[in-house]
Order: sequence, then structure tokens, then C-alpha cells
Amino acid sequence: MQTISQAAYSEFLQQVTSQQVAQVTIKPDRIEYSLKSEFGGQRYYTVSDRIQPNLANLLRSNAIAFIDERVSAGSVLGLLLSMGAMAGALVWLAKFSEAGGGISGLMGIGKSKAKVYSQGKTGMKFSDVAGVDEAKQELQEVVDFLKNGEKYRKIGAKIPKGVLLVGPPGTGKTLLAKAVAGEAGVPFLSMSGSEFVELYVGVGASRVRDLFQQAKRQAPCIIFIDELDAIGKSRGNSNFGGNDEREQTLNQLLTEMDGFDGNEGVILLAATNRPEILDPALRRPGRFDRQVLVDRPDKIGREAILKVHSRSVRLGEDVDLSAIAVQTAGFSGADLANLVNEAALMAARQNRPSVLMADFKEAIERVIAGLEKRSRVLSPLERQTVAYHEVGHALVGALMPGSSKVSKISIVPRGLGALGYTLQTPEEDRFLMLEDELRGRVTTLLGGRAAEEIVFGQVSSGASDDIQKATALAERAVTQYGMGETLGPIAFETQQAQFLEGGSTRRAISAEVASEIDRLIKQMIDRAYDYAVAILRHNRTLLESTTQILLETEVLEGEQLQAILKQVQAPESLV
Ligand code: ADP
Ligand code: MG
Ligand code: ZN
Repeated sequence: MQTISQAAYSEFLQQVTSQQVAQVTIKPDRIEYSLKSEFGGQRYYTVSDRIQPNLANLLRSNAIAFIDERVSAGSVLGLLLSMGAMAGALVWLAKFSEAGGGISGLMGIGKSKAKVYSQGKTGMKFSDVAGVDEAKQELQEVVDFLKNGEKYRKIGAKIPKGVLLVGPPGTGKTLLAKAVAGEAGVPFLSMSGSEFVELYVGVGASRVRDLFQQAKRQAPCIIFIDELDAIGKSRGNSNFGGNDEREQTLNQLLTEMDGFDGNEGVILLAATNRPEILDPALRRPGRFDRQVLVDRPDKIGREAILKVHSRSVRLGEDVDLSAIAVQTAGFSGADLANLVNEAALMAARQNRPSVLMADFKEAIERVIAGLEKRSRVLSPLERQTVAYHEVGHALVGALMPGSSKVSKISIVPRGLGALGYTLQTPEEDRFLMLEDELRGRVTTLLGGRAAEEIVFGQVSSGASDDIQKATALAERAVTQYGMGETLGPIAFETQQAQFLEGGSTRRAISAEVASEIDRLIKQMIDRAYDYAVAILRHNRTLLESTTQILLETEVLEGEQLQAILKQVQAPESLV
């Protein structure tokens, strides 16, 4: 489960115009964005369709904060683009000042927009955060600095200035920062990195100055800079233009950090899910000298988070939170919060007084099944194709090594565009994948397509998502995990974002190596596909009978499904 989901361009536009979008980053090849909290908050989406040239204007006219990373292209084209952006900015400013009351709207532009919460009014306590005990322990110390600063000053100890929270999206970084302020009972000045950087040169820097001035007046207090990467990106690797503003802002931040002392009672917290792109200067001693990892929760953590979020929800007697925790490996805290809410909505829709286990099951499936994408209206032949396809995944998956067990097949179309799906639930949290498991996973992914080919002699477009995933997995095996036989353990690709999907760069390689990589990927896919075909040919009767059952019942699960999966036999030639 990723907290980063793919979204269609049309869906994104619709969310923009209906004011659901909080922040947008336009990358050369994709758009990354998050939604406002009331629309599911803190989930990140990427859109990789072709980006329309007038997107920046559209965002501006909807007053959505965005960063355009295409502008630094370092060419004449880049210059033209940024001039276009300035023209757009003027239009936007005119609009803005009309709404904001003329001149005063303009004057306020250098002031920080920090949200200030007074004395512990963030309303959050450590008890609202679960599953990240180590991070809490480290931050407990910060709370103590703020509460009992005198104790440390007397003894002559230097209080750390800055604590950086790093981890994947939705794991509770923002929540933790608020909880620190809540526990310490001090004011909390919070601002998001992207709010500093606007189109006017100098605005970001003056906002930083203003923020620190406010903080010094209110000490002891906490300054919290969320999404630090928006301003803290490494300097000096942009060719020209476009990024001056961000660099100035960052320089100002560094200057301010040097200009105060933790012993004055101001502590700086910041959060990011892209620590690897931060300017190294930010991590020097005397700046963010502490880093706290806020990671995805393990099983026990997930149960604890579910408990926190179901405090205010009426749970039925059959609800077993620890069983739900088992089935939600990979979910972040935000996913779990969302899950509890989905389940509650489900129960409310059916006018039931409490939330039942069945609601949770349904909600989990919604989240997971949203991942496989195809289009929608089903003819009888399509329905048949989908059924064979899913049974193909399931039968192949049953033979593959690893800890994921096929627990459900369904051809009931799902809201998010999946026509059918096969649910594999992990039996335990996994942190490592063995080579044969990886190959097994590729094979399982290709099982759907293999079934279509065997039965119909031709294939459909429905397997595109499977094929993409299988290819990506095979590519990582060769270029990152060193599983390519002839190339060995050399990393040809480095992951740029530790906590986010995608975004890897290939190191400089020769043409021969490049074609060897392609050959190995193809070989891995071909072998997996041949294996999937062989398994399904060998179990052809079972494939037919299971598909017939599925077409009638639409859903196969539990003992009935397990009894079928037990009958799958490995083809002799390959054992
Ligand atoms: P991040 O800043 O790491 O992206 P947030 O702190 O914004 O994540 O989390 C979003 C929401 O998800 C929170 O408001 C909370 O409801 C829920 N959540 C996330 N992590 C946790 C956690 N560890 N414990 C309890 N709730 C969490
Ligand atoms: Mg956050
Ligand atoms: Zn499939």
C-alpha cells in the first residue's frame, strides 16, 4: 500500500476547481499534489499525463499554492516560461488585492502567514499519536527543554536548536509537532515550506525574518516548518533563474537559525519526507542537529493507531482491531485514520448503530482495490475475461513462495475503476524480499494476462496495470537489488526519494550495459510469464471450474477459496 496514489488528470482538474487541493508541485514529468484535510488531507497523488501549459494560471486563479519545478530548465525556453509566469502573477495579484481590500492586501505580503496557536492550543497530546514510540521518546526530551529550560541553563547544557522529523507521508510528523506544543503548553508557530516561497523576490526571506521575530517575542515557544523541502532544497544545482527566490529564503533561514540560541527558549521543529534533497547546510551542528525518524507503523503500532482513531467511534462487539492491524501492513497512520472513518461512514449509511467488522473489511478492500485500474462498463464477454484474469492471478499466486496468501477474488466492479480484483493479504510485516519471492510476485502479476491468452488466444488491455508493476519490479531487481545474473550487485539506479515512490536516477552507463539491463529485465519477465502460462495450462480444468463458480457467485473467499487453491499443482517440467 502506498500513500501515493495515481490520479487521472481529469480528476485532478476537478479537484482543483472544486477547491479540494492544498498544494501542488509541478515536475517536468508529473504533478504531485495533496488534498486539503477535509478532503482526505495529507494524501499525495501523482498525475503523469501530459501537463497542460496553462496549468500554472489555473492554479493561481484558484489561489492554490504551487511550486513549478519546470522553470529551472536552464534554457531560453525556461526564461520564456518564467516570464509568462510573472505576467500571470500580476493578474493573480490584482485579483488577490481586490479580495483582500486593496493596498493593505499588498502591504501584508512580506508578513509571515504563520498560523499561531497560543499556549498549547494545538489541541494535540502525545496520547493522540500512536505507533511511533521512539520518536515520541526523543520528542519527550524537547518537551522537557521547553517546560524546564531553567534546569538545563543552570547546569550549562546547550539545548538543541532544531529537530527534523523525517519519514513517509501520513505517518504523523505534523501531528507529532503539534503534540509537542500541546504537551509543553507553549505557543506553536506553524508554517509550511511552500508558504514562504511565492512569486515575488524577497518575500520568502522577509517572511522567515518575521516568523523568527514573532517567535523570539513569544519564547518559550515552538516554530514548526512543515514540508521543509519546499525551501530547503539543496542550493547550487539549479542552472539559472527561477530558484533565486528559494535560495534567498533558505539563506535567510540559515542566518536566523545561527542567530538564536536554544537556550532562549525557541525550538525549531521541521518535517519533511524528502530528507535526501535538503541542503547539507541545514544539518550542520547548531542547526537541525537532531533527526527523528517517523516511520510507518508495525503491526502493534497499527493496532494502537486504530485504537486512537476509534475512540470516538462506536464499535460493534465483533470488531477485532488486532486482526485489522494484521491485514493492513504498509498502511500509514493517515491511511488507518481514513480507514476507521470509511468504516464508520459505511455503518452510518446503512443506519446501523455501531461499526461492525464487516465494515472494516469492506473499507480495507476499497483502499486496496483502488489500485488496479481499468475502464468500466462490462459486456458479458468482458465479464468473462475479467473472471479468467482474476482466477489466473489467484491460481498462480497460490503456488508462489512468500508470505502473501490469496484471500479473495472478486468480479464485483469497484468504485475506483477496478473491474475485478484478487486480494492478497500478507501474513506478517515484511521488510525484505527474497529473490524467489520477487520472481514469484512478478509471476503472480502476470498470471492474469497468461489466463487471458490461454483461454481466448488473445489478450486485452486490462492487464496494463499488472504489466507496469511487473516491469517496474523486474527493473528494480536488476538495477537496484543486484539480482541480474550477468551484472551482479552493482547499483545502476539510485532511489532519489527514500520515502516516496518513483524518482530514481540511473548512473552513467555504457550502451552495452544499458542493453544488458534491458535484456535481463526482459528475460526475467519472459521467464515469469512462461512460468505463469505453464502453471495455468497444467491446471486448466481448475481454471475453468473456478472461473465458472466465480461468474456465478461474483466473490470467492474463505474456506471455499482455500479449498480450491489447495488443488493447484506445480507443473512437473518446472518443479
Ligand atoms: P505527516 O505530517 O507525516 O504527513 P500527519 O501528521 O499530517 O502526517 O498525519 C495525518 C493524519 O493521519 C493525522 O492528522 C492523524 O489523524 C493521522 N495519523 C497519522 N499518523 C498517526 C499516528 N502515528 N497516530 C495517530 N494518528 C496518526
Ligand atoms: Mg505533514
Ligand atoms: Zn490483474
